[in-house]
Amino acid sequence: MSACYRSELIGLFGSPVDENPTGVIMEAAFKALNLNYHYHPILVKPQDLKAAIGALKAFNMKGTHITIPHKTEVLTYLDDVADDAKLMGAVNTVYLKNGRTYGENTDGKGFIISLQENNIPIQGRRAAVLGAGGAARAITIELANAGAAHITVVNRTREKGQILVDLLNHHTPACAEFVLWDHSFKVSDNTGILVNATNIGLYPETGKPDIDYPALPADVVVCDIIPNPPQTPFLQEAARRGHKILDGFSMLIHQGAISFKLWTGQDAPVQVMRQALAAEFNIEL
Ligand code: NDP
Repeated sequence: MSACYRSELIGLFGSPVDENPTGVIMEAAFKALNLNYHYHPILVKPQDLKAAIGALKAFNMKGTHITIPHKTEVLTYLDDVADDAKLMGAVNTVYLKNGRTYGENTDGKGFIISLQENNIPIQGRRAAVLGAGGAARAITIELANAGAAHITVVNRTREKGQILVDLLNHHTPACAEFVLWDHSFKVSDNTGILVNATNIGLYPETGKPDIDYPALPADVVVCDIIPNPPQTPFLQEAARRGHKILDGFSMLIHQGAISFKLWTGQDAPVQVMRQALAAEFNIEL
């Protein structure tokens, strides 16, 4: 018998993880490429993160996704971290090579690819990003590295927003400014890209960010990175007002596709992943 009854293991470490649909796209991708891999969402409490990273080695796993609330803390437990992930202070993907753990951040890269595949230009443009958490850090740094000229960070907690703006001004070519989110935010006229990188609208919540919707510049592209639900109240309102919109599906798929390559060494079947996610959420492509 030459059959192999063991499969390669990929994790998703977070708390909570129950609502995270990434396994749907990963399992579809493994199946499409006939890879004997499986993706396991695993509930890991903060006090157990160190042990969970140790388990990656003990179980000879290929790697794991890292999600809320571990993206920053995990840097402490890895053997090596990519320079841009260090700058972001956040890792969302860990892979193993020769018994060592490596941290990368594919979130912002996935967002940039989703802009590019929808022909949304970045070079020389102004962007406004709501939120200053892990996802906002990854997105703003990648926007800056992709040529965005100016980035406005809008956050309700001053310290977090200011730290991100200082980081962008000191370590990227973009010019950044901070706006304290203690009133309805008005997007400035020459802004090309507006991104919701907060949790507002994430299932089961149904709220939308407090911005001046009637004053949105006519040609601003409105993006939400929340993948569940894909059509958030924020995007619905923007679409109703005639704006081009971009949902969190594309980012989820493309960040996953980059992670997939790190784990398997193969290009991800992006179209298969997109179809699997659309089927899961009953959406027509
Ligand atoms: P964090 O907890 O690191 O950051 C959350 C941010 O949202 C903070 O800046 C926080 O502000 C702000 N925020 C939360 N609630 C409110 C509120 N009620 N009013 C105003 N601001 C608020 O989370 P992440 O950055 O990791 O994730 C953010 C979102 O991005 C999640 O919904 C997640 O699902 C999504 N995401 C999507 C991905 C994709 O592939 N599509 C990938 C990664 C994340 P404050 O600093 O004041 O607390």
